Amino acid sequence: MQKTKVGVLVLLSGVVIASQFIGHGATNVAAKERNKASAQTIPAPDPQMIRAHVKFLASDLLEGRGTGQRGGDLAAEYIGAQFESYGLKPAGDNGAFFQNVPMVTMKTLPDTRFSLVPKSSEGGGAVSLKLLDDFTVNNETQTEVADINAPIVFVGFGIKAPEYNWDDYKGVDMHGKVALLFVNEPVSDDPKFFKGKALTYYGRWIYKFEETARQGAIATLIIHRTDLASYGWQVIQNSLGTEKSFLKLDGHTPKLKAASWIQLDVAKTIAAMSGLDIDKMYQQAQSRDFKPIELPVSLKAHVVSEIHPFMGKNVVAKLPGADAKRSDEAVLYTAHYDHLGIHPDAPGDNIYNGAVDNATGCGILLELARVWSMAKPAPPRSILFAAVTGEEQGLLGSEFLGRHLPVPASKITLDLNYDALPPIGDPEEVDVSGAERTTFYPEVEAVAKSLGLAIRPDAHPEAGHYYRSDHFSLARVGVPSFSIGEGQKYKGHDAAWGEAQSKDYVDHHYHQPSDEYRADWDFTGLAKMTQFGVLLGQKAASALALQSWQPGDEFESARKKTD
Ligand SMILES: [Zn+2]
Repeated sequence: MQKTKVGVLVLLSGVVIASQFIGHGATNVAAKERNKASAQTIPAPDPQMIRAHVKFLASDLLEGRGTGQRGGDLAAEYIGAQFESYGLKPAGDNGAFFQNVPMVTMKTLPDTRFSLVPKSSEGGGAVSLKLLDDFTVNNETQTEVADINAPIVFVGFGIKAPEYNWDDYKGVDMHGKVALLFVNEPVSDDPKFFKGKALTYYGRWIYKFEETARQGAIATLIIHRTDLASYGWQVIQNSLGTEKSFLKLDGHTPKLKAASWIQLDVAKTIAAMSGLDIDKMYQQAQSRDFKPIELPVSLKAHVVSEIHPFMGKNVVAKLPGADAKRSDEAVLYTAHYDHLGIHPDAPGDNIYNGAVDNATGCGILLELARVWSMAKPAPPRSILFAAVTGEEQGLLGSEFLGRHLPVPASKITLDLNYDALPPIGDPEEVDVSGAERTTFYPEVEAVAKSLGLAIRPDAHPEAGHYYRSDHFSLARVGVPSFSIGEGQKYKGHDAAWGEAQSKDYVDHHYHQPSDEYRADWDFTGLAKMTQFGVLLGQKAASALALQSWQPGDEFESARKKTD
């Protein structure tokens, strides 16, 4: 599996080098630009600065930096004040460093009812389902009550992907109906078809809710199969079961009255009531010739929610570019500052400090901002720094930023994101998953090499990590984007040690109150990751052309739309 992937990477980067060579033609101009970039002086990132930021942002005083909570607002103030102290320009709302992000928390209440109603008595009686045990539901339309009584249509994987010549809807009108579908995407070993074993955005649950709403559905039932989701029912219960924040409705994005997950057994019941077999339905969904099946079963639902609107904040700063022709273009750096906040009713330590997740990314973002502010001369393109909120609620702050960028998306050449980098030593590897999808990859390879960093291939492409961090929000609006992280190999240790460290973090500290600052942490690696970002930023800020996606990439059309 990884062999195939590596083969593709090499091939793609070969194409890039060739096309750039032909495209630029005037090599002496390119060389001049390169010299200019290398003549620019920027101070080396200081590990102690990063440590100080992490220590403060992860302290109990910041109360876990919850979105819409006091601690989160304090973190935003701190970050804004740092940006200001570096002499950067505000790039938020009305000349401030803050961009308001209107959000809403929706809590599904126990009065919520779901039942499956057969069309004729031959299908047996109505079956009522139990909230959380059988299904989860969020009302995306942000009303206190939503009622549904509509036929269920099985739409396979619910995917519409022109680049793979795939359409699960085949022109069937979904307006006012309930979509039933499987999570994930058609099984493939062919890298040209849904990226082989790697998960594409089409396989993610968020896509399923978005696409079915676009098709006109009023409710969507995603069938949970642990093997397909790569996480258990418990995870869905915890993350979506009771409370979820959303961006406030913008009035033009279609939303579902019921965005639901159902247990596999519930899907089996629906199939049985329809005289069908769920395993056969899954097999049928694998075919390009699959056609939606209107089932003789309706969903009758009454969704009751508590709504709590609030205002979140992104913190955005700008270092203006020096080249009159290119200063309206920009390189963007992002990191989320929010974490899970404080759970006042829980016994014991109830502060989710989020030291690794993501005080570390913020420490790096601030150090990037500090050293960039001292760049001499200033870069040709502008540099934007954005600390975003609501990541833990589903990449909300970055989604809002993507739609309300201070510089149009078409003029942002690159977004480099930092999310949860353990300060545990001096890395000899870097993880830049997704960079290979962009025209910038040859530069990434060159910079990694110059710092003695090997590029580590994504160990679990099937988990779709690319779609789970803030750079993805920028990719969706076309900006070539990826996250920078350490690999697993650290100086003085073998890769197994690094793997054990990351397993320990995932098992014992990830999204837990114990993700706390430690005095014995070694920040040299984070300074190195900062330096890596500085060097990449320098190249992107001075390159002749703006970066883009590789031909055929799923985000290529979004980039073209913004032209
Ligand atoms: Zn997190």
